[in-house]
Amino acid sequence: MQNEHYHALSHRVTDSCESKIDFEEHVMKAAILKAPERLVVEEVPMPRCPQGGLLVRTQVCSICSTDVKMLHHGHRDLVYPRILGHEVTGVVVESRAKDFKVGDRVQVAPGLSCGKCVSCLRGADNQCDHIGIIGFTHDGGLAEFITIPPQSVRSGVNIIPDELSFEEAALTEPLACCLNGQELSGVTYGDTVLIFGAGPIGCLHAMLARAMGATKVLITECLQTRIKMAGPTKADRIINVCNGAGGTIRKIVEEETEGRGVDVILLACPESTTAYPLLELLAPRGRICLFSGLPPENALIHLNANSIHYRDVSIVGAYGCTAAQNSVALKLIASGEMKVDWLITKRFSLDQIHEGIKYTAQREGLKAVVTEF
Ligand SMILES: [Zn+2]
Ligand SMILES: [Zn+2]
Repeated sequence: MQNEHYHALSHRVTDSCESKIDFEEHVMKAAILKAPERLVVEEVPMPRCPQGGLLVRTQVCSICSTDVKMLHHGHRDLVYPRILGHEVTGVVVESRAKDFKVGDRVQVAPGLSCGKCVSCLRGADNQCDHIGIIGFTHDGGLAEFITIPPQSVRSGVNIIPDELSFEEAALTEPLACCLNGQELSGVTYGDTVLIFGAGPIGCLHAMLARAMGATKVLITECLQTRIKMAGPTKADRIINVCNGAGGTIRKIVEEETEGRGVDVILLACPESTTAYPLLELLAPRGRICLFSGLPPENALIHLNANSIHYRDVSIVGAYGCTAAQNSVALKLIASGEMKVDWLITKRFSLDQIHEGIKYTAQREGLKAVVTEF
């Protein structure tokens, strides 16, 4: 249905970069977050293709636990009212940018950076002084169409290789965020990596750590369903922390590392940051990556400074991803190095967005995607 409609639409446009679409429809359907707890699906005016930008018909937008957080608690970078969705793929239906044409299948990195500030010049465009984010400060992909501003076209729009589905390509952005976390915590050859949480992010981290050269990958998880589902990550061990928690993890880490501790801890579920004595699980020169944000009221953590000092320990944060990490992540998926299709466990239509959010919040399965708009 969706594709039929797209083909009908594409016949009405010319090949020219400056082409304008004569849309029959002047409105489109979108999921808009108007205030905390007020997410509505309604018709809004069709957005116009910006100068130097693109108009894209959304094909797949995956739902992220950050969307859940935004719905219930807001977010530091969220500006209301907002069409949510930052894990977006689609087809270009109008192009006012010279490098893209109508019909291009694209994956969109959500960061909108200036390209000129010190962070941008140092390659940390996710920390741009003037950062905007699609799905946070600019309207996102939980809508029939999305506009891509020129800042994104410059480096944040990637052509999806033919062999890759829109669904697989939609997981590029979360993988790119994992890449940011692993680059910052220096995951490398020979490392033993411990990941807290076997949700979609934990599973992506596990597969990526292997691709980065880790020789041993351990995951902790407390939900039985997710322990079962994490098999395809090929982690060496999935530690069930249903009971016993801290003691169990310490014992298994000792067993698996001959008492040395792990090289890197990646925290892919917010509760774990405060629930475990993380420093005790680390080897000398170990790194901890605070990948999940915490609710502000729980964000103060206590750490023993001497454990950090004497053992050369590093603690890094990781938020979002750069445009470069996005294009690398898409290449990793396309190369077959990272198999991601199995992570998608449920598909929804835009009208079912509340069910999709609930599915994500309840951690029933892994990744939910919206495929019908
Ligand atoms: Zn996300
Ligand atoms: Zn900048």
